This record gives sequence, structure tokens and C-alpha cells, in this order.
Amino acid sequence: MRRYNDASSDQLSNDSKHVFTIHTDCLFDSKEKKFLKDTSITINPKTGLITKVYIRTQPLPASIAAPDIDLRGKCVLPGFVDAHTHIFLHAYADTPALNQMRDESLVERVIRATNHARSALLAGFTTYRDLGTESAQDADVHLRNAINRGIIPGPRIFCVTEALASSGGYEVRLENEIGGARAPRIADVCDGPVECRAAVRRRLGAGADVIKFYADYRKRALRFPASTWPGCPDVAFPPEQPQDERNPSLLLFNQEEMDAIVAEAKVARAPVAAHAATAEGVAMAAKAGCTTVEHGFEDMEGSGAMEAMLEHGTIFVPTLAVAELFIDVKPVLAQVKKAFEHGIRLACGGDTGPFPHGENAREMELMVKAGVPLEEVLTAATLHGWMACGGDWCGRRFGWLGEGWAADLVALDGNVRRDFQAVRKVEFVMKDGRVWKRDGSAVGMF
Ligand SMILES: [Zn+2]
Repeated sequence: MRRYNDASSDQLSNDSKHVFTIHTDCLFDSKEKKFLKDTSITINPKTGLITKVYIRTQPLPASIAAPDIDLRGKCVLPGFVDAHTHIFLHAYADTPALNQMRDESLVERVIRATNHARSALLAGFTTYRDLGTESAQDADVHLRNAINRGIIPGPRIFCVTEALASSGGYEVRLENEIGGARAPRIADVCDGPVECRAAVRRRLGAGADVIKFYADYRKRALRFPASTWPGCPDVAFPPEQPQDERNPSLLLFNQEEMDAIVAEAKVARAPVAAHAATAEGVAMAAKAGCTTVEHGFEDMEGSGAMEAMLEHGTIFVPTLAVAELFIDVKPVLAQVKKAFEHGIRLACGGDTGPFPHGENAREMELMVKAGVPLEEVLTAATLHGWMACGGDWCGRRFGWLGEGWAADLVALDGNVRRDFQAVRKVEFVMKDGRVWKRDGSAVGMF
């Protein structure tokens, strides 16, 4: 580590005085997908960037003096990126989605989101790609800004405000809207390429980092509605599963509309995330040039969907953690392994919110369970997360520990290669060169 003894007013020297070094003996390199020994990382806290990464050739003393940090004996990785979250949602097991979106006040939702941000950061998630406020309008923009301004602790957020959907495509369904009983909107509605372009422009103007649209959705919920209130009788003889589902996912946009959304987003250097449950929706979203496809639960065999993702370099975010809440996850896990073997890039995004923030690591555990190699899962949860956020369009590099990249890192108590449960034993968290957790306890919070 370089030290400056003179009191030079030169800015570079001045900054360098504050530089400190983190020493590791087990460091995950998310580009090489391997663990490095005896590596030290020099950080400039003023820029929050890594200035140097080097392999030590000399042994270190047993104890390291401040401000340097000793993380030897721990497993050190880039800060985790959860590539699919909803910071304004909390566990559906506590409160169903309908009640959260319709009944909770905006104030309560913002306060909850503030807690969620803290939980995520302490769990080692230094970045959230947050894919929709679910009726909290554009509140994600202002939550993101509050974190960026240092008002509250939390992950670096890339948000979408509202997702785009076609008319009647993605709504909170109420059977009685007489007398003004209305649910707040959960999508920015657009039909046809011209309106689709306008909707992208509205979202960007509102402050979105990422554009999200619903390639498909279960839009015919009121055809055979579920019994959602006490005493409501169930409808008799709904269509039988699985040939004719009660409320199947159906396409919301045609190819021309999807193409228009992606083209308009690209003009503004914004990445695009597409919700697509059906194989057809996955293939169309990939062809349109979306950065990521979310979910992809339906069997893609023989549909050309995987081939389309591979051809267009689409990142697949399979959201296994939310899948296990609602569906038999076995075929979904098998499909993720197949996608990996095809060479499709994966990113870890749990669709976190419907299950608790802070439990984000569940997605990594399920990817390992699917049979994706551990180093690939860790890359999906770090470097590929950055790519899902737009890569260099983000304006900051994170998800890899190298010179010029953000000093976002976590240290685990345990060797993740021997026991993957170590991803939940987060001892140390740094974001942008600032320590938020040390020796397993929060630091600098209020
Ligand atoms: Zn989602």
C-alpha cells in the first residue's frame, strides 16, 4: 500500500491518504469463476472504488492495524446482486398481494421498504434490480434517491417504477367496482407500437433505470374467479388442469410492440426486463432484444425459446425462489440446468418480496440444487447481476473485484465451497467502500 508523508494539496495525493487495504486469503473472482488465495484489495473510500488488487508475496503480520481490514479466514466475494426484487412487497404468507396493493397506505409501504432495504444490505445484497412497485406508483425512484443521498442504508437500487402492460393485461382485479371501489393501478398501459414507445418515455421521465414489460400474464382472472372473500362460493366446473388452465398466462404484446419497447429503451441506454412465463413469450422477448427474461416457468422444450435466448445473448432470471412458493419446482429446476448447459447466461433474482427481504440467498441455494456449478451460481449472483442491470449503462461497475470497480464486498463465515449454507453467514458487508456490517453486526446504522 502506498502512503504519502507530505501534506501535498495535490488532489490525488490527498485522496490517497485515505486509501486502505483489505487482506483476504479466499477471494472469489467472478470473471475467472475461481477462488484466489492471498489477495489484497486497495480501496479509495472517497470514490468507493477499488484502486488495486494484488497477490501478496510477503507474509502479513498476525494482526492488521486500522484502517486496513483483515478478512483472512473468511470467504470474500463481490457484494451480491438480487436481479429481481420488489422492495415494496413483504411476504405473501403474512399479507396477500391483493391486500398489500389495495389496502396498505403508501406511508406504511415506504416504511416497510426502508426496513427491507436494511435487511437486504445486512444479508450481503449491495444491489437490487427492483422490478415494479406493485401499486406504489413511482415511489421506488425516491427510495433509490434516499439511499443514494445517504439518508437511509440500503442496496444500490435500479428500479422500473411501473411495468408496461397492454389493456386489461396486468391489473388488481375486483369484482365490485360500483360506488368507486377501485384498486390502484399496477401497470402503465400501452397498446400498439406508438403507445409502447410513449410508455417507455414516460417511465424514463419518471426516473426509471430499467424498463419492464409483461410479455404475458394471467389476464383472464375474472373468467373463473377465485373465492377471495369469506362466504364467496367457488365457481363450479372450472376448466381442468393442465390441458386448459383456469387462468393461463397469455401473450399481452405482439412482436412489433415488444420490438418498439426495446428499441425505445435502447435509445436512452436503458436495459429491458421482460416478464414471460410462457415459452412463446420468452422467445418473443428474446427476439425483441430484451436484456433479461424473468421466470420462464413453462416447458421450453421444442419451442425455440432457449435457442432465441442464446442467439440474442439474453440473460435468464428464473426466479426459482418465488416459484417454490406456488408451483412444483422440480421441472423448473431441471429446465434451469438445461438452460445453463445450453450456454445461456443466468442471473440470480428471487422475485424477492413475496418471500422476505434478507432471505435473498434462497435463489442461489435453489440454483445450486438445480445442478448449476457453485462458481457459476456465484457469478450469476454478482457479475451477471451487473449485466442484468445494464452493464456499462449503469454508470458504475460492480459484481467483480477489480481495479476501477465498486468496492462492494461481503465476507462469509465459512467456506462456501464445502458448505453452501455459508452464503447466509454474512459477517462483513461493504458497499461503495463503506462498511455496513462487521463481525456479524450492523455498523453505522441508526
Ligand atoms: Zn416480480
